[in-house]
Amino acid sequence: MRAFNFCAGPAALPETVLKQAQAELLDYKGGGASVMELSHRSSAFVEVAEEAEKDLRELLGISDQYAVLFLQGGASMQFSMVPLNLAKEGAKVDYICTGAWSQKAIKEARKFADVNVAASTEQSGFSGVPARSEWQLNEDSAYLHITPNETIHGVEFLDPIDVDPRTVLVADLSSTLLSRPLDVDRYGLIYAGAQKNIGPAGLTLVIVRKDLLGRSERTLPAMLDYAVHAKADSMYNTPPTYSWYLAGLVFKWIKKQGGLKAMAELNARKADKLYRAIDESALYRNPVEASARSWMNVPFILENTDLEASFLTQAEERGLLNLKGHRSVGGMRASLYNAVPEEAVDALIEFMREFEQHNS
Ligand SMILES: *Cc1c(COP(=O)(O)O)cnc(C)c1O
Repeated sequence: MRAFNFCAGPAALPETVLKQAQAELLDYKGGGASVMELSHRSSAFVEVAEEAEKDLRELLGISDQYAVLFLQGGASMQFSMVPLNLAKEGAKVDYICTGAWSQKAIKEARKFADVNVAASTEQSGFSGVPARSEWQLNEDSAYLHITPNETIHGVEFLDPIDVDPRTVLVADLSSTLLSRPLDVDRYGLIYAGAQKNIGPAGLTLVIVRKDLLGRSERTLPAMLDYAVHAKADSMYNTPPTYSWYLAGLVFKWIKKQGGLKAMAELNARKADKLYRAIDESALYRNPVEASARSWMNVPFILENTDLEASFLTQAEERGLLNLKGHRSVGGMRASLYNAVPEEAVDALIEFMREFEQHNS
């Protein structure tokens, strides 16, 4: 029996996707080999790759003005690729700091550009998003970088980002891409590690406006150059073929569920239920302001921290896995990505209520 998996990443995948992958594992479409064993130049794999890109473009409504890249190196590699590709030597760039992942992006960008932290919620322990009126943006920045969902702190921008349409807006959407509809046209560049809401680890999606390719005029290592990957259809070198294939199956699964609008309804309902259960209890507490509570990652603490270990053990015995919070913030965290079914959230809430009753 499969357990309910609340892992922040690598995270749960839809069961039907795993079953299809299992059915096709040894012999992909009668070709006598696994997808893992196909040349990335073979017509069978090129079809897998193109189909995945087509489905992703359809789901997000990505126009021809954007290149879609299937890369490696994780979101962390994007922390350096973004400044290297979009900012000329010594150029100014703006960053909004809302948690651990923004901090890492900023630290890396400082190596390659003149970083202005235009707003930060660090002083208040990353418990919300900074009011738009407080952002100190440069007039002449090459881009503005935001982290719409902070996976560790459970903080999310729930309103559209309100900036001048000429601003090159860059977003690390690792833990929230495909959780709801998104107006891609508002962004210059979007990136996401796949292992949260897209597919298995090893794949990183980049959606970049084509006029930004080559913008920095720097001499870059080929593997760090978006233009090289775009020109080669993400096959400059061997791409992560199996992760690409699985992501393609996930895109088809999302389409079958009714697309991103259906995902949004389901995800809003799941998050709502869990926050309500936390707010109604005397034992659990979520530290994030109501206006910035993440749909995807719900951190919560136990008012009596002595109960943490038994909470986790008993949860695991009930088949509720990976509820331990990130080591940097402690407490608990339930990640509610697309592939976490509503029944998983119901089972978690039921367990939390029982645990509270037995321990009060
Ligand atoms: C997980 C995560 C990262 C890091 O991703 P890697 O693929 O491990 O490099 C970066 N940003 C956000 C928002 C994340 O959730």
